Amino acid sequence: MGCVETRRWSEDVALIAHSRPPGSPHWQMVQDRCAAALEQAGFTVQRQAYASGVNVVGTLPGTTSPDEVVLLAAHYDHIGGCPGADDNASGVAGALEVARVLGQAALPRTVVVACWDEEELGLRGSRAFAQGLTGPMPVVAFNFDMIGVASEADDSQVFPGPLAERFPELQAELVANRGRANFIAVVADGPAEAFARELEGLAESLGRLTGVMALTAAEKLDEDDFGVLTLSDHRSFWERDIPALHVFDTGVFRYPGYHCTSGLDTPDRLDAVFAADVMKATAAAMASAAGL
Ligand SMILES: [Zn+2]
Repeated sequence: MGCVETRRWSEDVALIAHSRPPGSPHWQMVQDRCAAALEQAGFTVQRQAYASGVNVVGTLPGTTSPDEVVLLAAHYDHIGGCPGADDNASGVAGALEVARVLGQAALPRTVVVACWDEEELGLRGSRAFAQGLTGPMPVVAFNFDMIGVASEADDSQVFPGPLAERFPELQAELVANRGRANFIAVVADGPAEAFARELEGLAESLGRLTGVMALTAAEKLDEDDFGVLTLSDHRSFWERDIPALHVFDTGVFRYPGYHCTSGLDTPDRLDAVFAADVMKATAAAMASAAGL
């Protein structure tokens, strides 16, 4: 966890956080940045073109169990006209920094770090990747989408009624925390819950409160009741029964700048210390998942 360098994350966020709808010059620049950073981290990089877009997929072969894959990804596209600093420059920069850290370790299992295209157009990039998988399925897929916003203000966190009812222990924890939006949220399906719990323990060892929402097989694809927890690329893995977890700041439930609805989503609204804790806990959880 000590290898994470927050400065690198901040520099990548500043580089990425400009309007970048798919096909635009800045979208291309961010795609190139993903490829270059993964190569520098020691990964073998492929640009996976599918019907309408391009994913960047980096692979770091495992030393003893190369067929067993642990994956981390973040979408690099965003809606036009919005800088998308939290959504999802924060996640891309975070995934690239975790890749740099893991690239320095000799891990038994293979690590794949990817930048997905067209999440905002209906999870197209991650779905193209997940649907195209053949052979052994990944052991687990981690997703970063919005890892940069936190607040120490009382009652800065929204926790919608249906979720508070489903997770009463988290609701109680939130009340005890004076409603502050300063915790890491993790959404996992059942098979990924153990990975989520390990990440939670690692983050809390850093002093960062973390809440895990684990969904059953029926709940995870239940649009009506839990749709708000399935709005990012982890869903593409759940659709293929690949264990997946989404690590995030809860997005719209704490951040008025979400999709530039109330002010622009710009880097000055992000909290680098919070993002650093997300990266540290995830890097350590992934190293453990990869057999270290
Ligand atoms: Zn997003």
